[in-house]
Amino acid sequence: MNRKNKAKRGKRAHALLAVTLLLWTLTGCAVVSTASVSTVGAGETDPQAGQTQSDAEPKALRQTFQLDPDHGSAVRLEGTTLLLSIFASDRDTAWDFESEQDQKVIQTTLNNLEVASAYLSEQAQQYGKELTFLYDWREAEDLVFTAEFDESMVRSDTGKANLQIEWLCNYINFSALAEKYQADSVLFLFFFNTDTSSITDGANSELRSWCMPHRHENECLLELCNIYVNSYLRAMSPADYAHEILHAFGAKDLYFADEGITQEYVNSLHFSKDIMYSTNRNSDRITSEFSDLDAYYVGIAPRPAVADKWGLGPSEFDAD
Ligand SMILES: [Zn+2]
Repeated sequence: MNRKNKAKRGKRAHALLAVTLLLWTLTGCAVVSTASVSTVGAGETDPQAGQTQSDAEPKALRQTFQLDPDHGSAVRLEGTTLLLSIFASDRDTAWDFESEQDQKVIQTTLNNLEVASAYLSEQAQQYGKELTFLYDWREAEDLVFTAEFDESMVRSDTGKANLQIEWLCNYINFSALAEKYQADSVLFLFFFNTDTSSITDGANSELRSWCMPHRHENECLLELCNIYVNSYLRAMSPADYAHEILHAFGAKDLYFADEGITQEYVNSLHFSKDIMYSTNRNSDRITSEFSDLDAYYVGIAPRPAVADKWGLGPSEFDAD
């Protein structure tokens, strides 16, 4: 396996050069390719609006955007978050931007982001926090990219995430984008065009979308999610999107015991609507609930009594 990976290294570098990257080099120039944007959002993009966006003078910039060494690119659930959409193809899946069917799926991702963002902002407000997401690439063309990988990236584990991080570091000038939009957090959403038959990742396990919070050994400190538009026998819903986005900010899965989450607590949640325990299927609204515990883990609320009652682990924000 290792040998195979090494053999692919050279190929991969070549593949990265060949990536159909829409927008950017590392020069920081916000050069927007109108043609490529119209490929992603065929029939939806307003080139005029995009032009205005691109030409607009940036507002007075605050200090240079710095990745937070303790919390990565998605910090706490407040302020302004850039959600950068990357429509990715890999060895097994591809986007056909000319296809009507794929365009529908692409519009669904945007709809899901809209519903998820509104929901999360509303939840944060309950805790006295202002939260804004910038994600709509129909209005801001530099929020969307396409990428191609020559390996099988559609899998339930994060074993190939290093390739994505390498891609992000090479091809997206996230610091310049963060400054342009005065963002406090940046989260990278990779969308893979899986179909409804994509129920396994080839290893007889259920395919699930995932979000990878930052890891200290990852020098880029970037946080990314892999959204498989169809996974686990169903299309991803806005609640699923919100669930994954919350992970990037520190929220923990509550449907199984893991580091810091006890089996006793998981058992106590039977039939719970906590969004980190279960997600609803509706395409237009989220009925899953954002709990005090979730708010604690994403850094916007104090440790709730329930955490001590069930012996739950600390929030990554406890040390702040
Ligand atoms: Zn999860």
